[in-house]
Amino acid sequence: MTDRPRPLVAGNWKMNGLKSSARILGDLQIGYTPGLRSKVDLLVCPPATLIQNFAVLAIGSRIAIGGQDCHAAESGAYTGDISAEMLADMGASYVIVGHSERRTYHREKDADVRAKAEAAHRAGLIAIVCVGESREEREAGKTLAVVRRQLRGSVPEAATAADLVIAYEPVWAIGTGLTPTPSDVAEVHALIRDELRRIVGRADQTKVRILYGGSVKPSNAKELLAVPNVDGALVGGASLVAADFLAIAGAYLV
Ligand code: PEP
Repeated sequence: MTDRPRPLVAGNWKMNGLKSSARILGDLQIGYTPGLRSKVDLLVCPPATLIQNFAVLAIGSRIAIGGQDCHAAESGAYTGDISAEMLADMGASYVIVGHSERRTYHREKDADVRAKAEAAHRAGLIAIVCVGESREEREAGKTLAVVRRQLRGSVPEAATAADLVIAYEPVWAIGTGLTPTPSDVAEVHALIRDELRRIVGRADQTKVRILYGGSVKPSNAKELLAVPNVDGALVGGASLVAADFLAIAGAYLV
């Protein structure tokens, strides 16, 4: 593809990290050399408790900071929740929505994910909308149908190439060490690219970044990131180790 978007390697820290974890961000800042910066964007999504501190620490480093979830409403009686406006106010520029752990443990449906992505856009954030099939769905040959249904239900109709990232994360690959074959990844990413034509239009469909997520490690990053229509990675476990996260991004150096 000639007009590939600039790649993005994003770290999802999940419910990990304390104030002392700022040293990991410090190591990332040191390792995000001009050479790497010229090739790939970096994003760190720590727990909400660390966003404000990380956003301040990251100023000048070009490492973006994001949230892992947001509520659909701007404010109100939603005890324990965090709005997209609050994330933006703390210095976040991205938010992950529809992660499979939210879909599973919090029973979030496509409509909930779409409402959260709309909230992200209302607050000026880039929404990383996660989709992906379960093991049962893959074994039943339903992967493409599931991903298509999730995309159509979860992505706001008004989304643009500037405020949308899609992350394909097969649920069975998250945190398991298992990954799909490159040709399986290519098949799903091609479907997502095709669906994007309906969402953002033919002219912009190639500008939206489509990340692969699920057990990305330094040892498999090069192979997965070379797959057509893979414009970066959403990294869970390996993003908590600065050297590993940088090594994954480093796949773009060659
Ligand atoms: C994730 O949680 O988004 C993820 C991809 O996790 P891991 O890299 O640990 O599989």
